[in-house]
Amino acid sequence: MSNITDLSKSRYCKGIQCPKMLWLDAYKPQEAEDILPESVLANGTLVGDLARSYFGEYSLVDFSFDKTEMVNKTNELMQSGAENIAEAAFEHDGLYCAVDILHKNGNGWDIIEVKSSTEIHPIYIEDMAFQYYLLTLCGLYIKNVFNMHLNKYYVRHGELDLKKLFVLEDCTDNVRQKFNKVESNISAIRSYVSVSDEPTRDIDTYCENPYECAYRKYCGRHLPEHSVFDIAGMQTRTKYKHYHNGIISYEDVLANEKKLKLNAKQKIQIESTLYGLPDKIDVYEIKKFLDTLTYPVYHLDFETFQQPVPQFDDVRPFQQIPFQYSLHIEQQDGSLEHKEFLGKEGTDPRRALAEQLVRDIPTGACSLAFNMSFERTVIKNLAEQFPDLSEQLMDIHDNMHDLMIPFKDASYYSEAMQGSYSIKYVLPALYPNDPELDYHNLNGIHNGSEASNAFATMTDYAPEEIAEIRNNLLKYCGLDTYAMVKVLRKLREAVGD
Ligand code: SF4
Repeated sequence: MSNITDLSKSRYCKGIQCPKMLWLDAYKPQEAEDILPESVLANGTLVGDLARSYFGEYSLVDFSFDKTEMVNKTNELMQSGAENIAEAAFEHDGLYCAVDILHKNGNGWDIIEVKSSTEIHPIYIEDMAFQYYLLTLCGLYIKNVFNMHLNKYYVRHGELDLKKLFVLEDCTDNVRQKFNKVESNISAIRSYVSVSDEPTRDIDTYCENPYECAYRKYCGRHLPEHSVFDIAGMQTRTKYKHYHNGIISYEDVLANEKKLKLNAKQKIQIESTLYGLPDKIDVYEIKKFLDTLTYPVYHLDFETFQQPVPQFDDVRPFQQIPFQYSLHIEQQDGSLEHKEFLGKEGTDPRRALAEQLVRDIPTGACSLAFNMSFERTVIKNLAEQFPDLSEQLMDIHDNMHDLMIPFKDASYYSEAMQGSYSIKYVLPALYPNDPELDYHNLNGIHNGSEASNAFATMTDYAPEEIAEIRNNLLKYCGLDTYAMVKVLRKLREAVGD
């Protein structure tokens, strides 16, 4: 692909989402931001590699920067009677695709498009329609087009069962219906990118869906510092609707407050920003929340990771697997004790974690989480997994309180929270410029997704590197619960407790 009008299947799908993306790729690629996490790319590769064996033996067309080499290799394999060809490559008149699996079916072929998701998305149909169109132009008789994705109900027991791990969805009819449309889309996309003047195309929901666009900041550069897009708790499509109606700045939003049916929290968010209001502290509501707690308080936080392909028994694709927790035990006099668990890399950590958790938190104790629905779900899943520990685990579950409540309800609100009640906003708002509570000062791991990724990939590293990663994980999770201790203290101070 060297010409800007050349199209691969991924470039075609980009062009379907918004042709300006391809224009910017061609003329202003430096404006793109890096947005796809590495773990997403790694998942796709892992699932794709595994799926190749679904139909048994297969021949692989090795990747080459020389596409013609891949196309020639594919032709050779087809002529030599290969039944399954992975990464089968085709090229015609500036169009190119590599089919995940090309499967021989009698006198024709089936196209199999593999995805590491657990369901089908409309953009996948566009992707498959492009492949069907191109292979048909190349003279192949395509009998069926399937989307192969992960089965969210599959639970691993022993060896992986590929026939159960994957679901094949027949998309042939949907794809065939798009044949003529693909032709006109290709022509429209090519005309669009051929013009060197920057197209005037406004931002809209297609900037977020089906994929977040890397040029969103560039295309939204005309927006004011605070705009309708920053309002918390408003649906994306509603924000775009207001934007297209000229309601863009916070001033515009306030002027149309009634029409927009702003809720109390959204109003506080906007007014605090515009007028620099002092922190809102609803003493009555905060006291009511604090009165629900009993000491000692067990500040608890889990870290979890997910595997698209379950590595352990009794795990489904993308199931949240807890591998770590931190626990700060706070007495009424403010004294603290810290306990923690971190599973051994490469093993299923759930049993050991559950056993230690029920030892660390006694029956009837008051536990506290920030956004407890997550911690509760983790505990409930563990209780289902380990019936012998169920009673103790569910006791922790039932006695849990949520430190997020006073912030979610805006009983405590500060401008710096920017409408968010996530701890990553609440903490710096309550303790600005406190290096002890600044996640940026941690080594290696600064957020939940980095923690998940670190645990999931730890076995790839040398022992001394593993020791360092484990240390970083402990520090990160430890800060999560220490932060909760500090947040609770701030609430008490705020009401003079
Ligand atoms: S930000 Fe929106 S308008 Fe700009 S290229 Fe991306 S999708 Fe198109």
